[in-house]
Amino acid sequence: MANLILILGDQLSHTLSALEDAAPGKDLVVMAEVHDEASYTNHHKKKLVLIFSAMRHFARELEDRGFQVHYHQYDPASQCQSLAQVVQEVAGQLNPEKVVTTECGEYRLDAQIRQWHKQMGVPVEIRPDTRFLASKDEFARWAEGRRQLRMEFFYREMRRKTGLLMTPEGDPEGGHWNYDGDNRRKWTGKPPAPAPFRVEPDQLTRDVIDLVETHFSSHFGTTEDFHFAVTADDARAALDHFIDFALPCFGDYQDAMSDDEDWLFHSILSPYLNCGLLEPMEVCEAAARAWYTGQAPINAVEGFVRQILGWREFVRGIYWLRMPDYARENRLGNQRPLPWLYWSGDTHMRCMQRAIDSTRRNGYAHHIQRLMVTGNFALLAGVRPEDICDWYLAVYVDAYDWVELPNTLGMVMHADGGYLGSKPYAASGKYINRMSDHCSQCAYNVNRTTEDDACPFNALYWHFMDRHRKDFDNNPRMRMMYRNWQRQDEDRRKATLERGDWLLAHLETL
Ligand code: FAD
Ligand code: SF4
Repeated sequence: MANLILILGDQLSHTLSALEDAAPGKDLVVMAEVHDEASYTNHHKKKLVLIFSAMRHFARELEDRGFQVHYHQYDPASQCQSLAQVVQEVAGQLNPEKVVTTECGEYRLDAQIRQWHKQMGVPVEIRPDTRFLASKDEFARWAEGRRQLRMEFFYREMRRKTGLLMTPEGDPEGGHWNYDGDNRRKWTGKPPAPAPFRVEPDQLTRDVIDLVETHFSSHFGTTEDFHFAVTADDARAALDHFIDFALPCFGDYQDAMSDDEDWLFHSILSPYLNCGLLEPMEVCEAAARAWYTGQAPINAVEGFVRQILGWREFVRGIYWLRMPDYARENRLGNQRPLPWLYWSGDTHMRCMQRAIDSTRRNGYAHHIQRLMVTGNFALLAGVRPEDICDWYLAVYVDAYDWVELPNTLGMVMHADGGYLGSKPYAASGKYINRMSDHCSQCAYNVNRTTEDDACPFNALYWHFMDRHRKDFDNNPRMRMMYRNWQRQDEDRRKATLERGDWLLAHLETL
């Protein structure tokens, strides 16, 4: 035989660089469901079902294309509990010329694979992941010499590079680079949000659901109502569904939250993009087509493309530029353990309860819930970054270290000192009330700050601002809030801080 080609669970793309010159009938593809990868965190049950089932379907497709596939099914009694053990065993039996793989998305595993040639005595060729639009080197070149990195400037480079939403003259379509200012509407039930795209589980997926229920019963979440796509064809159908039914309103309601709608106008494509069933460029091109054909307005299409071409590529660039030190950053010195309510959802705070409940049922919450509800609360409460990062990595079906870590540690917790975002996304209950209908259903009063029934976000917000004055005093984007704080009379400020102290001491009971 010639090469042993290793394909990981988030590399389920037929265009994968490791498969580029692969010879069906000659090379052997290895795929493995192993205990070490499935259990290093408390992965949501739906995430395990999605990845294992998508892997099994992908292996079948490779076999249909003539490849010989060595597929290691999950077996807790197996001698091989890590990827290295599986590869070593197969390599020992077949003596390949080399192991070929595509660079993996997680620093921890990447560091291990880079040592395999020494441990296994077989050459290991690691190819770049060409599914991303900016390579690691390209991002590093862009970042070089910049004191602070700003997504907006990187995004414009990417627009120019890809030509997406650009006129032939080289200007942004519609005349502006960014339509974020138009994308802040509250949703009041109209137009109705589309039903999410659903795929009924086939036999392969049902087998995986049984496996997860048997071996991962203590993991977070539920397998009930599993309806994610597990093949590229179905993921493309999910993309079409989004373009037809949700994209036209995506921009308007991008920041909205609803007490009884889990998905609103979001695409729910991250689970597929991140495991390789969809590629970023095909998704952006489909959205751009909707603008050119008049199917969706520019604020929706540009807003959507920016998330993928801008944010997704940007956070990946930062991850690889700053790891491994990035994971240990804690510039605000937060040490509070993660409150148990993140796992139980047992809280009177309606916004938190709804976000955690959706997370538990679906393995999904949309961006504003992650950023401005569960994330905001962790920031205001001073949760240890490591704890909250572990939570986000575990609970979402789209969670992989390269994308979860910068979003949580950088964007939410500001633990990187502002490298990713120029100011923390801290907000009081007022913001949540403006963007949702949660507060009208809540046990707390969003208009109060110091009383026993006052919204916890309010006093915690000012407590956060006050205790981090030294960290943010010089930040021009925070000056107005500090002036507002200073303008309140002293007794009021004292009562707010006392209420904040009390809340911090009683987080589990809120
Ligand atoms: P849409 O709202 O429809 O957006 C379209 C696409 O844009 C997404 O599918 C996603 O690929 C991309 N995107 C949007 N925002 C971001 C972003 N900030 N970073 C990277 N890509 C983005 N996204 C993940 O894919 N995996 C994660 O583990 C993850 N963890 C997060 C943790 C926190 C604390 C926060 C605040 C955000 C996190 N995000 C993560 C980003 C974002 O919340 C999700 O990508 C988005 O909610 C996925 O749902 P969607 O596909 O419906 O997105
Ligand atoms: Fe959340 Fe406060 Fe509104 Fe309750 S009142 S839903 S805790 S923001």
